[in-house]
Amino acid sequence: MLNQQELEQYKVQLLEERRKILNNIEKLVKESNELGKDGTPDIGDEASELSSRQLLLSLNEADRAKLLEIDRALERIEEGTYGICEECGEPISPQRLKVKPTAIYCVECKSRLEKRQQRG
Ligand SMILES: [Zn+2]
Repeated sequence: MLNQQELEQYKVQLLEERRKILNNIEKLVKESNELGKDGTPDIGDEASELSSRQLLLSLNEADRAKLLEIDRALERIEEGTYGICEECGEPISPQRLKVKPTAIYCVECKSRLEKRQQRG
């Protein structure tokens, strides 16, 4: 089981990652706003404008998913269930948490769930 000090470490790590994502989103939004304001694109430029907008959208979606994962992990720290697999209730290995602090499943459950998803 994780002790208080380890939990605190993961919490700091998660909060740091959360802050980075929020900064990133802020920066992207700001950049895209500035682009729209004064840098009026040529008519022939529509395609490239579209792709950068799509990039922004997809980035935001990935970031949003990550944020949800982080929030969930932080909630689990508060609840005292952090580091416990949501599927089987066994502790998630510390090595796995180090690589992926937002993990909610142990390696076995994760791969089993992924296989199930692939089959549809
Ligand atoms: Zn499990």
